[in-house]
Amino acid sequence: MGEKVFLNGKFVDAKDAAVSVFDHGVLYGDGVFEGIRSYNRKVFRLTEHLDRLYESAQSIRLKIPMGKEDFLDKITQTLKINELDDGYVRVVVTRGAGDLGLDPRKCKTPAIFIIAGKISLYPEAFYEKGLAIVVSKIKRNHPESLNPKIKSLNYLNNILAKIDAIDSGAEEAIMLSVDGYVAECTGDNILMVKNGRLITPERSVGALEGITQGVVIKLAEENGIEVEHKKILLDEVFSADECFLTGTAAEIIPVVKIDGKNVGNGIPGEVTQKLRRKFRELTGTEGTAY
Ligand code: PMP
Repeated sequence: MGEKVFLNGKFVDAKDAAVSVFDHGVLYGDGVFEGIRSYNRKVFRLTEHLDRLYESAQSIRLKIPMGKEDFLDKITQTLKINELDDGYVRVVVTRGAGDLGLDPRKCKTPAIFIIAGKISLYPEAFYEKGLAIVVSKIKRNHPESLNPKIKSLNYLNNILAKIDAIDSGAEEAIMLSVDGYVAECTGDNILMVKNGRLITPERSVGALEGITQGVVIKLAEENGIEVEHKKILLDEVFSADECFLTGTAAEIIPVVKIDGKNVGNGIPGEVTQKLRRKFRELTGTEGTAY
């Protein structure tokens, strides 16, 4: 992690960066967050991440006591102060400290913190050889319970599925919706390729609207790859030609096995590799400079 953390308006030493035990982010997971990457002293898709942060906050009726422009500034400053050329930024807004008891009105001031550090990546071999994942028995939260669109501090649904993956010796797991459609993985979106078309779960199924996924869809369209949003059954993933995951930390990572069965011919597919190359061209050039 970096040396300095932005906490409630100030930069403090990482070892002194602490929030209250009465913070409802700690007590109840009541808060929102973002994970953002910078490459080459440029923050990738910063505006999109900030928009999603403010939307998540609005969904839980949390008013962020700082404007977006100011927030953007603080994020780039955090990277600068920690002298990170390539970094990972964790942005968190909690409900703040209050009494015990769920009532968010007990919390007067949201806590804001920004941590910047080095990114820890999947080993390069996973990108070249592809990932073996499993299907979790844990269903993704129903959108009418806790909408997966909201990037909230309450990640237990995903953590339970991650534990399930680890128990099966895998790094990632597919999470299905309560009615059995492919939603996403524990910390990444999932896409597949069939007959040259890129297929991604329809929004109504309930997943985080990934920023990386959005970039990949745009790249596909610009490169003449047709994109389809639909309700995907597990069988369709098993019979797909290619499958891959997207996420800020993972970028684009091929999936070659699900529950021990090969996807396509069991090696990263051509469309996946092409999109990976295009994606890496973008991250090296576009972004908010600091
Ligand atoms: N789904 C979940 C549950 C996530 O936590 C994330 C982010 N790690 C993603 C998808 C990918 O989203 P993004 O591309 O915006 O990082």
